[in-house]
Amino acid sequence: MERTVVRCAEGHLFSTATFPMQNLGAGRIGPGRLIRCPRCARLRSAVPADLAALSGDQIQRALRREAAEFLA
Ligand SMILES: [Zn+2]
Repeated sequence: MERTVVRCAEGHLFSTATFPMQNLGAGRIGPGRLIRCPRCARLRSAVPADLAALSGDQIQRALRREAAEFLA
């Protein structure tokens, strides 16, 4: 399943299967979407993470930490 690695406003990395903007360029991402961060356990504004700036280990850990739900 294709998942998008995202970063919450607090800097936590996790992934979601339902992020709708994964094919857009960085200039079009905008303010992000509200997603319930599994680390914060509350809604956070999250944007797609820049995978080029992450290590493979960070990406793998984010992919194992999937957002339980997608909102807004
Ligand atoms: Zn968080």
